[in-house]
Amino acid sequence: MLQDILPHIYHNSFELRSAEEEDTVFIFRRNQVLLKVSDNQLTLPHIKDFSQIAPEHCRSLFSIDNTWYSMLKEGEIVPPEGYDYYSTAQYREFRPMEALFPCAVAGSLNRWYLDNQYCGACGEKMQDSEEERALVCPSCGKVLYPKICPAVIVAVCDGDRLLLTKYAGRSFKKYALIAGFNEIGESIEETVHREVFEEVGLKVKNLRFYKSQPWVFTDTLLMGFFCDLDGKDQITLQESELSVGTWVKRSELPEDMAKLSLTGEMIERFRKGIR
Ligand SMILES: [Zn+2]
Repeated sequence: MLQDILPHIYHNSFELRSAEEEDTVFIFRRNQVLLKVSDNQLTLPHIKDFSQIAPEHCRSLFSIDNTWYSMLKEGEIVPPEGYDYYSTAQYREFRPMEALFPCAVAGSLNRWYLDNQYCGACGEKMQDSEEERALVCPSCGKVLYPKICPAVIVAVCDGDRLLLTKYAGRSFKKYALIAGFNEIGESIEETVHREVFEEVGLKVKNLRFYKSQPWVFTDTLLMGFFCDLDGKDQITLQESELSVGTWVKRSELPEDMAKLSLTGEMIERFRKGIR
C-alpha cells in the first residue's frame, strides 16, 4: 500500500530544524507539485537543484531514513527543463512507492498550510509552532493541528460473495467498497453500520477490524473492516453517492494491480480466500 515503503523508514516526530541544501524539496502550485517524471518513474528534486530558492525559504517536514524532506513555504517557480507540475490524480499513478508516499504526505501538509494561513477566530496571520506540528495565532493564541479525518472502508461479505460499489460523479471509475467519514459523537463501529445502511440499505454483523491506512491524498485516516451480511441481501442504492452496488462472487473479483489502497488490498484478501 501507499505507506508500505520498507526497508525505508518514515520519521515524522516533530523536530525544530532549518532546511538545508541537500534536502529533498516539494514546490507547490496550489495543489500541484513540481516533479521530474520519466516512464511513470518519479524523481524528487533537492533544494540545491534550483538556483531560485534557498534553504531559508523552505520548511522542514519529515525524514525518511537519513534524508530530510522540505517544502517551499510560499510562491512557486517556473518549471525548469525536465520538470512539470502534477495534480494528485496524475502523480498517484507514478512509482516507486518510496517517492510517491513522501510526495503525497507533503501534499496533505501543503493543503493544511495553504488553507490555514490566517486565524479562523481573529484573522491574524498564523505562525509555525516551535514545539510541535501546529500553527499558532500570535494574537489570540489559537492552536491548529494538521487535518486528519477518520473514515471507514467496509468489506461486506456474504459467503463467497463480496459487496462492490462504484462512486457516482467522481473521476475514480474502478470498483470500491463501502466507505464514509466518521461523524462527531459516533464510534467507528457505528460509522460502519450507518454507512453500510445509508449507501446500500443492508444490515451487517461480526465486524472485524483489518488494518488502517493514512490515505493522505484526501487527508483521511482509513480504518478497514470486514463484516458479514445480517439478514436480507437486497441492495437499495443511495444514488447520490453510488452508481453501482452489487454482489460479486470470489472467482469473479478483479485483481488489484495498483497495490496502493486499503480497498484494493481488502478486495485482494477476500479474492484469495484469506479471512
Ligand atoms: Zn487568532
